[in-house]
Amino acid sequence: MTTLESFNPATGALVGEVPVTPSDEIPVIVARSRAAQRAWQELGVDRRGDLLCRASEAMVSRAEKLGKLLTEEMGKPLAEAIGEIKSCGEGIAEHMREVTEATAPEVIEDGRTRSTIYHDPYGVCAAITPWNFPFAMPHWMVLPALATGNTVVLKPSEETPLIAQAYVDLLNEVLPPDVLLAVHGADDQGKVLVQSDVDLIAFTGSRETGKHIMAAASTDLKRIILELGGKDPLVVLEDADLATAAKFAANSSFRNAGQVCVSTERIYVPRSVSEKFVDLLVQETAKMKLGSGLEDGTRVGPMINARQRDHVLAQIDEAVSKGAKVVAGGEGHRDNFVVPTVLTDVTHDMSIGRDETFGPVACVTVVDDEDEAVRLANDTPFGLGAVVFGGERAAEAARRLTAGMIGINKSCGGAEGTPWVGARQSGYSFHSSKDGHRNFTQTRVVSMNA
Ligand code: ADP
Repeated sequence: MTTLESFNPATGALVGEVPVTPSDEIPVIVARSRAAQRAWQELGVDRRGDLLCRASEAMVSRAEKLGKLLTEEMGKPLAEAIGEIKSCGEGIAEHMREVTEATAPEVIEDGRTRSTIYHDPYGVCAAITPWNFPFAMPHWMVLPALATGNTVVLKPSEETPLIAQAYVDLLNEVLPPDVLLAVHGADDQGKVLVQSDVDLIAFTGSRETGKHIMAAASTDLKRIILELGGKDPLVVLEDADLATAAKFAANSSFRNAGQVCVSTERIYVPRSVSEKFVDLLVQETAKMKLGSGLEDGTRVGPMINARQRDHVLAQIDEAVSKGAKVVAGGEGHRDNFVVPTVLTDVTHDMSIGRDETFGPVACVTVVDDEDEAVRLANDTPFGLGAVVFGGERAAEAARRLTAGMIGINKSCGGAEGTPWVGARQSGYSFHSSKDGHRNFTQTRVVSMNA
């Protein structure tokens, strides 16, 4: 049997391996999942919630141990890895409360007809997930799918199979058999899973793979939820608190080495304050200690692999060849590590101004006014997150941005209970929130005479 080896991106050391699931076994696994689904649905949302909440405690109490595995396998700073796991565990109870509300039958009467709206599970959900939040990304798809009564076959990223398997094992301590199963491998396993007898595909990953999945799902109109990449802008207005904006820009550009779908990838600053803003950004960048995620004080870990590093370095080189200036970082890269870099004079003629970077690069473009900033911020096929820093005019500028999630003087993440939603080519359907949970269900209406 072939195995999938998982390497530490900081050292190149082998962390462990899992067996690759042979393609012809995938339909058999999906059939097991389907056989388990009816009983799982019939348990009802309260019992399902009881079981899932039991996993919550295990996630929190094992966060340190699992966090170490996550960092070894993926590279992010240990504290962030532990935080990722804890936050998943801590959120389950609230999540279940939302799912209960979202799936409660609703009665509507018009005097002649009495109808009940139900939100039933689709059946079997294929969850296909990436490596950048290798515990949280599976969780964000698996939890609502299970909570609403679907069974799940998870195919995690081939870069991070070990922490994903640990996630599956942990949940399987509390779940009935076959309710959550895993398939390991790369694109081939993903393709076979998409084409198999599943009802819903919940995917987080690149726009290109999202398009393949949408096309493959169209043959029998499978339901899809696609959470794709972005090219998130940060618009700084003239009256912004520049120190706070620069701190945000550095954190949001360099967190997880920029390997976050809502990383700040483009920064638009008015000419009048650009010099001051860039100075502050460079100062913040100097605080971003590069190193192994297991070393104390590391703020920025390695890229996930050499391919991703080469992509980032090639974008920087192309930008410089077209006139961008390196004002911080830009050299001293080694192995999979890319030094946090600040570029100015970035334009949309450069790949780094248009295409997803997913690396620790802050790209600054000077603009004449708010209109130009908004026009450039919206000049992208993507539409995941966007952020505006500013005073009085910030709220109005925010409403002119065409992303799905927009933050004012903060990250784009919304309050508890709001959706995670990408506009345009950053997503199709969405998850989280009452409406998001319903996207894991089939709406049905049963009517009778009143
Ligand atoms: P990333 O590079 O961020 O991991 P990808 O979109 O390449 O993003 O991969 C996300 C997930 O999709 C991974 O689990 C990967 O193995 C899987 N995958 C890649 N190609 C396909 C495909 N054609 N069909 C289904 N799954 C795929």
